[in-house]
Amino acid sequence: MQEIEERLLCEISRKGRRAIDLEPIDSNHNRLGVDERQSIGLPELSEPQVLRHFVRLSQQNYSIDANFYPLGSCTMKHNPRQNEKFSRFSGFLNLHPLQPVSTAQGALSLMYELKRWLSELTGLPGVSLNPAAGAHGELAGMMVIHKAHEMRGRQRKVVLVPDSAHGTNPATAAMCGYTIKTIPSTKQGLVDMDLFKASLNDDTAAFMLTNPSTCGIFDPKVKEIADLLHENGAYFYCDGANFNAIAGKIRPADFGVDVMHINLHKTFSTPHGGGGPGSGPIVVTAELDPYLPVPNVVKTGGAYQLVNEDEKSIGRLKSFQGHFGMFTRALSYMLGHGADGIRRASEDAVLSANYIRASLNDLYHEPFPGNCMHECLLNDRHQRDAGITTMDIAKTLIEHGFHPMTVFFPLVVKNAMLIEPTESEPKETLDDFIGAMRQIAEDVKLGDVEKLKKNPISTPRRRVDEVKAVRDLKVTW
Ligand SMILES: *Cc1c(COP(=O)(O)O)cnc(C)c1O
Repeated sequence: MQEIEERLLCEISRKGRRAIDLEPIDSNHNRLGVDERQSIGLPELSEPQVLRHFVRLSQQNYSIDANFYPLGSCTMKHNPRQNEKFSRFSGFLNLHPLQPVSTAQGALSLMYELKRWLSELTGLPGVSLNPAAGAHGELAGMMVIHKAHEMRGRQRKVVLVPDSAHGTNPATAAMCGYTIKTIPSTKQGLVDMDLFKASLNDDTAAFMLTNPSTCGIFDPKVKEIADLLHENGAYFYCDGANFNAIAGKIRPADFGVDVMHINLHKTFSTPHGGGGPGSGPIVVTAELDPYLPVPNVVKTGGAYQLVNEDEKSIGRLKSFQGHFGMFTRALSYMLGHGADGIRRASEDAVLSANYIRASLNDLYHEPFPGNCMHECLLNDRHQRDAGITTMDIAKTLIEHGFHPMTVFFPLVVKNAMLIEPTESEPKETLDDFIGAMRQIAEDVKLGDVEKLKKNPISTPRRRVDEVKAVRDLKVTW
């Protein structure tokens, strides 16, 4: 090491000398004079001024570290600092994805351990950590299903998807070459069993069901659905984005799931939003295990290996093993909570959502009355006659200091408001949020509609024309 440094220094000083001694200085490379600098409009600012500018901008960010973030379907839970600390251990931080596996045994054992936890929690033995996000996990899972049918010599062309599904479900099935058949939901927000049975035939490759659903409901017929699929030779793909409602309580394998993705950045607290890396491992039955993507960590004897090629595998979906930094954080969360802590987190997430629901359902319409899972679904039906919509309620929440809930999703409910508090929040925060929502409903009753329509008024930007903002985006000023 010292020898290399010495040679580098020698090289640098040799080049430096040559530049000084041998090469004439080109006057075009001279720094601009003060007058010229002003003429091209460069600002004259001191370092503190620049620093303060950027700190001020950063303070305009709204984040889970600063405030309540009840964005339904996104599970914006607290990112424990302990996770960050572990992920920055130098042994993890300085890994190279191409270093010999004999020198990365600790990292591989961490991945192996994470796979074991995911397998235990879901009851499904096959795990791939590769997918970069939930949607990527869906792609991996549907490719596995496609491959399994192919290996059995079956040509199935249709994937069933409920109308309450996240848009990534039909998009993924279409990317795998399938035709989508939409199954409308019942008035209770559940799978319509008659329509489901009528749609199921020997051309059905799979059913992609989110359970608990994006309506915040656990489908009580889920086992019957799985049995019907299996009798017909079709697979049950479960979108596991809402695993935070049931983790540690019930294993998806026990209600008949064949493939499921898990969003580590939702259920297992790794950070997300702002374009940071997610992680969407998939878990599968023993039958589907051989088709999982490579590379995959295995343990032979006392050592860990990476399987990089496998004849039956669907192949490689990513350059390397997946988002390792997210694996360290997720395992840190799991070990920090333990099995009982994960169960408790699910229970608290469901309790918090129901507390909000029960505290607001006298003022806001509840499309599917009754207990919910980890998120509660309301809409603007009681406010609409006064001319106030979900959009006005969301924009007014900003004025009360809260990030709005998810709005206009799921599509099965007109003007939906989907609220997911997660288990991270103390009762005081939930009460403040409930107080703001109740105040808004009272203001609508008092008839101060014009005022609500103008919100937000104290933010750096007021309401924008969102269609124009997308179609005619200008990022300069
Ligand atoms: C978040 C979510 C997804 C997509 O996950 P990403 O990690 O954002 O790709 C899919 N389905 C449901 C129900 C979700 O909530």
